[in-house]
Amino acid sequence: MFALYKDAGYQDVLVEEKQALFDQVTQDMRYPETLYGCYECGICVAACPSARFYDFSPRVFAQVMAREDVHTFYELLNDSVWDCSQCFSCTCCPRENNPGAIITIMREVAVNNGLASAKEALQAYSRIIFKIMSTGTQVSPDMLQPDFFPDWGQDVRDVAENLDVWRRAIPPETMHTVELAWDVSEKTRLELYMIWKLTGNLEMIENIDEGLFMILEEVMEELLEEHGYDIDDFDNILED
Ligand code: SF4
Ligand code: SF4
Repeated sequence: MFALYKDAGYQDVLVEEKQALFDQVTQDMRYPETLYGCYECGICVAACPSARFYDFSPRVFAQVMAREDVHTFYELLNDSVWDCSQCFSCTCCPRENNPGAIITIMREVAVNNGLASAKEALQAYSRIIFKIMSTGTQVSPDMLQPDFFPDWGQDVRDVAENLDVWRRAIPPETMHTVELAWDVSEKTRLELYMIWKLTGNLEMIENIDEGLFMILEEVMEELLEEHGYDIDDFDNILED
């Protein structure tokens, strides 16, 4: 079987296993609209921010998929797939390819199959996922600490020391917060939970980090109970 890179890693993994994952990507309903052949022009690489910082190329994804090179595909699936910023600048492709979308599908396949590389790559995001689910926001103003941003000089120190004052100066009251980017209502958090559940995102989190999944379920169960709902009676929640 042809391999774009002769030294593609994971030679010990059975080709059938690689092929099965490759097929999951190509059989995804979105896949036919991501690849129409490749001129090897490199325009996508010139537009790609990740290509500037990593040994990474959207062109390689288009080439590997077009050539059905399952060996290099498997290597990308376990490594480079996590270097994409998902900005979709590569849609400037003159053949109307969408390497970023190919990567999106590949990431989902990596997660849904519980690949060890995916678990490792996403480990750092557990805290972020927990924060979004439990508070409704991701970053918080109190992350602005002089130790983390030494290049900001004296300004960051002044802001950090008087953060609550700066925050109270912002017109919307929901932003008079220091530990949260803004106050997110419980209704919004419940809606977020339902969206994640219905779109299969919670299932993906369970595949990657069962411990985190259980904590999230616990947090949401408590919140749902406070509002008179039962987490196991999801249809009822949806009806309301
Ligand atoms: S979506 Fe990914 S591959 Fe495409 S330009 Fe952005 S970082 Fe590069
Ligand atoms: S994917 Fe498109 S932009 Fe990138 S090398 Fe191929 S034809 Fe050129």
